[in-house]
Order: sequence, then C-alpha cells, then structure tokens
Amino acid sequence: MGNDLDVVVIGAGFAGLYTIHRLRGLGFAVHGLEAADGVGGTWYWNRYPGARCDSESYYYCYAFSRELEQEWDWSERYPGQAEILSYLEHVADRFDLRRSISFSTTVVSAAHDGDRWVIDTEGGERWTCRWLVTAVGCLSSANVPDIPGLDGFAGEWHHTGQWPHEGVDVTGRRVGVVGTGSTGIQAIPVLAASAGHLTVFQRTANFSIPARNAPLSAEEAAGYKADYAAIREVQQASTNGHPFVVSDVDTLALPDDERRALFERAWERGGLRFRAAVRDVLADPEVNETASDFIRSKIHETVDDPAVAAVLTPHDHPFATKRPPIDTDYFETYNRANVSLVDVRADPIAQITPGGVRLASGAEHPLDVLVFATGFDALSGPLLRLGLRGRDGLALTEAWSEGAATYLGLGVAGFPNLFTITGPGSPSVLTNMPTSIEQHVDWIADLLGHLRAHDLDAEPTPEAQARWADHVREAADATLLPQAASSWYLGANVPGKPRVFLPYAGGFARYREMCDAEAQAGYPGFALRARRRAA
Ligand code: FAD
Ligand code: NAP
Repeated sequence: MGNDLDVVVIGAGFAGLYTIHRLRGLGFAVHGLEAADGVGGTWYWNRYPGARCDSESYYYCYAFSRELEQEWDWSERYPGQAEILSYLEHVADRFDLRRSISFSTTVVSAAHDGDRWVIDTEGGERWTCRWLVTAVGCLSSANVPDIPGLDGFAGEWHHTGQWPHEGVDVTGRRVGVVGTGSTGIQAIPVLAASAGHLTVFQRTANFSIPARNAPLSAEEAAGYKADYAAIREVQQASTNGHPFVVSDVDTLALPDDERRALFERAWERGGLRFRAAVRDVLADPEVNETASDFIRSKIHETVDDPAVAAVLTPHDHPFATKRPPIDTDYFETYNRANVSLVDVRADPIAQITPGGVRLASGAEHPLDVLVFATGFDALSGPLLRLGLRGRDGLALTEAWSEGAATYLGLGVAGFPNLFTITGPGSPSVLTNMPTSIEQHVDWIADLLGHLRAHDLDAEPTPEAQARWADHVREAADATLLPQAASSWYLGANVPGKPRVFLPYAGGFARYREMCDAEAQAGYPGFALRARRRAA
C-alpha cells in the first residue's frame, strides 16, 4: 500500500478503530497512525486507580455489529479500565484492524498541499492521503498545571491521563491529589485505601452521585443482549445517547416529601440516570436547585465532620453544569483517619517544594507522590496539537485563535478534505460517546463515498460554519450549562484558552437529524469542488 493512501486516520481509540473498519469495508485504502503502542485511546492512557466508565457497560460499546454485541460479556455495571481496554483489543483483533495501524507514531504536522494531505510524524515518517480523518479524542491532551517548583519535586508525580503501565505503589506513602473532577473522585477512594496518608487539594467542590456499581448477573446480561434492538432505538432518539428517557415529572409541582422520595429512589438506583429523574434539570434554575439541594443534603448526611462537609458542598455552579461525576464511596472517604481535605480556593497552591506542596498561607503538606487529576485541554486541544495547515498554509492555531469553530463539529472552513470525529461543536462529551462516534463515522463514510463517486473535494463554507457557531451558542444559552464559569466545556480550565462553549448542547437526536438533512440535501454547507490535482 505504501505511504500514499485514500484516507489517513489519526488515533486508534473507539473512533479510529471503527473508522478504519468502516472505510476499509467500503474499499478505501486507509491507514491509522497512533501515538500509543496499542489500541484503546482513553482506555490505553487512563490507568489510574479506580478508572472506569460511567456510561453503563451494555451501552458503552459499539452498536455496529450484532455479532459483537452478542459475543462480548461485560462483568460489571460499569467496567473498569482494563476490561474496556480488553474489549477494544478484542475489536481490533476480531475485525483484523491492527494491520492497518502504525503504533508508536505521533503526528506532528499535517499540511494540505492543494491536492493531498502531507502528514509528518515524530519519527520522521511521511504519509500522504486525499482525505484526513482525525480520531484524536476530546479528552486526550493532559492538562498539567504550571505550578512553580514542579521540576524540583523530590517525590514522583503523575497525571492520571498518562498513568504508568506498571502502576504506582502508594502503600504507606504520603499521597496528594490535585483535582476533584470525575477522575479525582474515582481515584481518591482507591488511593486512600492503601496510602499512608492522602491529602486532597480541592479547588471546586463537586456534585457526585453514587455509581452503585455491581457485577452484572447472567440474567441482566442476557436481558440486555435480547433487548439490544430496542435499547439502540432509545439511544438514537435520546438527548444524550444513553438508553433512558428523561422523566416528565415536574419536581416543582410535588410536595416536599414526594420530591425527596423521588430523589431518594434516583440516588439509590445511582449513576448518570439521576440527571434524568425529573424534567428540565438543565433548563430551569428552580428545578435544578431542588436536585442540587438534595445532593448537598446527602453530602452533609454522609460526611461526619460538618466543617469538612461544608468545604465539600458545591455552591458555585448548578448541578450537572459541570460534567457530573459518579462515585463509589467518595464522600465516605473523608471519614477516614488517613484522609485530609485542603481547600485550595481559600488558600491556593503557591509552590511545589522538593518535599511537597506549599500553600499561599505558607502551610506545608509533605508528600511522596503527587497525582494531578487536573483534566484535559478538551475538544480543541488534541486538534491544535496536530500542527494542521489547510488551504494556502492557514494554520489551525490561527483559524481558531479566538476559539474553535467548525461546521457540525465535522469539518473546518479552510481545511479541505479534513473530517473531525466528535470535533468541537458536536454533541460529543455531552453524550454517551460511542453512540456519537458511530454516528460521525457513518456520516463521514457516506460523504467520502459521495466524494469518491463524483471525484470531489469538500470543505465547509465559511457561511455554514458561522451559522453553526451561532446555533451552538444559542443551544448552550438555552440551558444552564454556561453558568459553570470554570467548566472545561468552556475552555476555562486551561489558562489563556478562548472562552467558547465547545460541545453542542442541542441534543443528540436533534443533531443527528440535522446531519442527515445535510446529507440528503447534497451537502449544502460544504463547498464541493471538482478535484484539484497538483501540477
Ligand atoms: P480517544 O480514546 O481519546 O483516542 C484518541 C487517540 O488518538 C489516542 O489513543 C491518542 O493517543 C491518539 N492521538 C491523539 N493525538 C495524536 C497524534 N498527534 N498522533 C497520533 N495519535 C494521536 N465517555 C463516555 O461516553 N462514557 C464514559 O463513561 C466515559 N468515561 C471516560 C473516562 C475517562 C477516564 C476519560 C478520560 C474519558 C471518558 N469518556 C467517557 C470519554 C472517552 O474519551 C470516550 O468515551 C472515548 O473513549 C473517546 O474515544 P476516541 O477514539 O474518540 O478518543
Ligand atoms: P476535570 O473535570 O477537568 O477536573 C479537573 C479537576 O482539577 C477540577 O477539580 C479542577 O478544579 C482541578 N484543577 C485543575 N487545575 C487545577 C489547579 N491548578 N489547582 C487546583 N485544582 C485544579 O478533569 P477530569 O476529572 O479528568 O475529568 C474530565 C472528563 O473526563 C470528565 O468530565 C468526564 O467527561 C471524563 N471522565 C469520565 C470518567 C467516568 O467516570 N467515566 C472518569 C474520568 C473522566 P476546578 O473545577 O476548579 O477547575
């Protein structure tokens, strides 16, 4: 096949694997480039203690193969990182995908030369292709805060998204965790169980719902397998790509005791479905306050020390306006004698010293291991790191200097024949991602089939992109989501990143219909040009 292809796919997680499978099946010469030495993406990199999904196993998986659905057995309600990685390795083997992927191959630049994409890798290889598909993930660019002194830390430090494969033995050691997002909230209880002492550095208190993880019984697993057609139908018609319907209950119309009982049932059932227990939780501030208040009351019931409970209680953003974590014994962990909580909003981290963390007040926290659960330069970050240059040398860093802009999250004006799976402006991180990924891959596959059949090049028009940016903004503004000022949805977690609400908040089903309408109308949002060949 050589290094000149129809399609190069960057990334070999959920998105890259399915793209390669789908396009190969359509007869495209396609090859994947992956920085890691194996498949799995998120599940290759995030090996921190406690890492698991919060979508449930029976739908945190591909839907494209009925056989795969029936063959694979999940062991738990929410499988851990190792099990999800095994699943993706199984997919790579079952569909014979590894022969179409170069591993340990990091793309450092990709430039359109007027005819083809020319892609250069860190190792000095060059690949060329007509169509470039990015499958680089939304949460694959680790965000390590720039805290003075980190280089001089005498202990070991790790970001959770780049966790060592051999693990980190924290037995009896003094461990610090910075960050209480979904990752920190998963890792903290597990680290606390073996650390000598665990210090949690919290900047923003978070709402968290119990996961209620448990083994999947044989009956449950068989039930899901028998029901897959119906499950997939609900997912396709849903707002978030999850197979459950948002309740129609108006919580404001309920007497206090009935409202409390309703939230109690949702709390006992656990998981992200809590968010769907009443209607309008992300649209009506009063409704949201009932859910937020309920969770606050649970924190105070769970945590023994009222002063610690107060610090753990969120007041600066409505529930679910930051991605809601789900947990196993998170708040309970603060009742352990070997765990302490430090409020770094009140007393910020000033410096990392050789021996630990020093706060602005001068207080010292001695540490042997420092864990950054500090998240990612989300959505746009991995794309900006690709060194993309489109027509006439336009750099993506330049095109996005005031914030990421795309058409449908699928392509960027000025970047011909580039397609971005779950790019900024798509529902992506607001959904169950395998569902969004498959929708994008199928849509891109249809478009590439059209372009091949008619020998066309494609790129979004600036007008379509501008209209889409307005719509993405309106969709976010119709919800409470922009109220979480420090959210990574807005880029607020990365210093200097332009504040643009990145994912599309209008709902998965509505979005899918708009993508289908675009295709049925002959792709009016894209400039389709007869193919230009280099002289
Ligand atoms: P990724 O899995 O991120 O894969 C992208 C790949 O691209 C990576 O392997 C990376 O190495 C590669 N890459 C990036 N840049 C380059 C480059 N320059 N050169 C070469 N290769 C490159 N989503 C849910 O829906 N439900 C969940 O429960 C859930 N849990 C999550 C838990 C964690 C800890 C995290 C971090 C995310 C979670 N997500 C969840 C989101 C998750 O990222 C997606 O579900 C999904 O795994 C994304 O797949 P992907 O293939 O799009 O991207
Ligand atoms: P995150 O949600 O961005 O959380 C990062 C945490 O680090 C926040 O508490 C943040 O505080 C804190 N932080 C960042 N920089 C800091 C600094 N300089 N000083 C002190 N604190 C700092 O990242 P994440 O927890 O890795 O989660 C990212 C996303 O990945 C999730 O939202 C979810 O989509 C996905 N994920 C899912 C699961 C799952 O259960 N399936 C697990 C992990 C991740 P502020 O809030 O104040 O910024």
